[in-house]
Amino acid sequence: MAEVAAAPTVAELVELLNYPRNKMRDNMDVRFCPHAVFYNPVDERCIYCHQGMECKWLNHNDELVAVERKSMKEFRRELTLACDYVEAQLTPAHLSRRACSCDNCKWLERVRAVLSKEW
Ligand SMILES: [Zn+2]
Repeated sequence: MAEVAAAPTVAELVELLNYPRNKMRDNMDVRFCPHAVFYNPVDERCIYCHQGMECKWLNHNDELVAVERKSMKEFRRELTLACDYVEAQLTPAHLSRRACSCDNCKWLERVRAVLSKEW
């Protein structure tokens, strides 16, 4: 009999946000950002910034934002965005590897398992 997978806990979801958060922060070049990476929707430099996706995500998922108060729907949306982001970081050579155990793949595997559940 197949075991019904339990819905993830909020603590688990909050923890899953840590990896892409650190990754985006490491990847971002903040030297030329006029707002210290606080997305400003009325500044056109932000609208056309090549780091816009990372920046918006970080502003929604910073530790300073009370992430544990997000709705389950919001967690799902943020994790889906983060999943696309981490997938985009994988090199083509890397994608052909099977059962890769690098940090990206380990995280993706966990997130995909969580996103595939009903919650
Ligand atoms: Zn990998």
